[in-house]
Amino acid sequence: YLAKEGRTGVELYQPDKDRNSPERLNLLGDLRRAVDNGELALHYQPKVCLTSGTVHGVEALLRWRHPVHGPIAPAEFIPLAEQSYLMRQLTAYVIDAALQQAARWWHTGLRVRVSVNVSARDLLGSALPEQLELGLAKYDLPPAAIQLEVTERILMGDQAYLHETIKALAALGVPLALDDFGTGYSSLIRLQRLAVSEVKIDASFVRRMAESEDDARIVRSIVDLVRSLGLRSVAEGVESDEIALRLAEMGCDLGQGWLFGRPMPPADATAWLQERHAGSDIEYAYHPEVTH
Ligand code: C2E
Ligand code: MG
Ligand code: MG
Ligand code: MG
Repeated sequence: YLAKEGRTGVELYQPDKDRNSPERLNLLGDLRRAVDNGELALHYQPKVCLTSGTVHGVEALLRWRHPVHGPIAPAEFIPLAEQSYLMRQLTAYVIDAALQQAARWWHTGLRVRVSVNVSARDLLGSALPEQLELGLAKYDLPPAAIQLEVTERILMGDQAYLHETIKALAALGVPLALDDFGTGYSSLIRLQRLAVSEVKIDASFVRRMAESEDDARIVRSIVDLVRSLGLRSVAEGVESDEIALRLAEMGCDLGQGWLFGRPMPPADATAWLQERHAGSDIEYAYHPEVTH
């Protein structure tokens, strides 16, 4: 049973790799209708303190159950959506659903921050900050209830348009995390100039730590750098006790991965959080400052 389900837990539909193949274009059309048809859902994966075990927050991860093909991985459909205006609609859905779930948790005493992944396209213009401001008001939430995850690749770009959007997000008080850190080529020192509060070390380094001393050294140097900038470090893809222990010894703050919890549908995530009395020690007063 387990072997059949495989590592991701489901057999995933893999459309043709060719960008303009009929399969992919069909899929894009299907995705367009998926929001209205209720085929999308968010699952939530915990972020846990590596020394105390305290739950610090959860990351919202988008799931699509296609009526014919079944579950399709974000790695398949997010890049498709990113090539069109559809990404904005998906992000609008994700933000509303994540805030609605955050409100259910916060207003029942489970104060866990909900992280939402956003794409390059979402950072274009003022739509995203406006949407967040409206959403926070609609669900009566403080900005600390939510966080945005932006990949290193996007944030390290030189595009001027990022500047205004990031300033607007900082003014709103919504914290920012740098996702998949370590895969890029970018100058690390630019981190200082970005209104980032959290750096997530890419799973590829974390997973290879056990076998490769080079990878372990890379992770250690990222953890040191992140700490020296006064930011929080999160290791992605933590699958074993051994790695968790090693990361804790290095001074890495938080871990995320199958060892602690897989992405879970809302009801399971709620039960998981309640069992761990989550949400007692979130820091409220985060006010990022933009220094560039
Ligand atoms: P990400 O933001 O870096 O999310 C982490 C991915 O690693 C998730 O894959 C998660 O299920 C997986 N993961 C977590 N722990 C482990 C582990 O211990 N082992 C292994 N092997 N995998 C683990 P997922 O859900 O398939 O998402 C893939 C990517 O798709 C995300 O990477 C993110 O970049 C993107 N994505 C997902 N949801 C959204 C969304 O709502 N909006 C946008 N723009 N992108 C999204
Ligand atoms: Mg992420
Ligand atoms: Mg990531
Ligand atoms: Mg990743």
